[in-house]
Amino acid sequence: MSDLLAGKRGLIMGVANDRSIAWGIAKAMSAAGAELAFTYQGEAFGKRLEPLAASVGSDFMVDVDVTDDASLDGAFEQLGARWPTIDFVVHAIAFSDKSELTGRFLNTSRANFKNSMDISAYSFIDVARRAHPLMVENGGTLMTLTYQGSNRVVPNYNVMGVAKAALESATRYLANDLGPEGIRVNAISPGPMKTLAGAAIGGARKTYKHTDLNAPMRSNATLEAVGGTAVYLASDAGACTTGEIIRVDGGFHVLGMPQAEYL
Ligand code: NAD
Repeated sequence: MSDLLAGKRGLIMGVANDRSIAWGIAKAMSAAGAELAFTYQGEAFGKRLEPLAASVGSDFMVDVDVTDDASLDGAFEQLGARWPTIDFVVHAIAFSDKSELTGRFLNTSRANFKNSMDISAYSFIDVARRAHPLMVENGGTLMTLTYQGSNRVVPNYNVMGVAKAALESATRYLANDLGPEGIRVNAISPGPMKTLAGAAIGGARKTYKHTDLNAPMRSNATLEAVGGTAVYLASDAGACTTGEIIRVDGGFHVLGMPQAEYL
């Protein structure tokens, strides 16, 4: 890729392995010239991240559980000590108990509702507040990952759909709060992808196949396509884009009904 991000540096949150959307974004950003720092969740994911981070020239990895204020504070302190300013943060984090990503939404428990909202939506606000001081000098870009289960019913997506609706709304409120300081806030909305989090959703394989057969592009999103979108958003090419939900789903969202059986 070109050098659209030359001289820019930022934090990537949410690489679990080389199929993670965050990793697709990291690779594209590094290829575009960016310098990267990473957070990971716990020792096991840290071991997987180490060689990946090294492959894009990064030795900056911090263990963060977004439900733990102290670990978030520690991560941003370390980041600020290394880099007085940053240009972007990628938030690619979500979680719901797998047992509630199947069956009836009606059965969502209070405990899992709260936890899913905390990890999948509130954490973006928490991260934005901590990243803000590192961006006020030069401006910057915050981005998160969402899915169209936020505003359409997708079987089994359940509580995660409600969390993504909150996340998308938070994206707009943050964009308005931070716009005057030159900080842009957007969400990328890919179609279904084969990742750890994606596999936790009931019937994931069917959803994947359905999009592949029916989307106008007759394909699912790729890590490269999501990465390219993230590069655009973090670069000066995206200078006037904020508060936006950008779909990377082969056009699936424009359909009024499935079409594969008529083709
Ligand atoms: P993934 O499993 O590779 O990444 C999810 C990440 O969330 C992991 O790195 C995990 O460690 C992290 N995480 C979960 N709970 C955490 C916590 N308490 N503290 C810190 N980190 C935590 O899966 P992915 O599909 O790459 O997911 C990334 C984002 O993309 C998520 O927001 C997901 O909802 C979104 N998304 C995924 C798809 C898909 O089909 N896979 C589609 C659209 C949007």
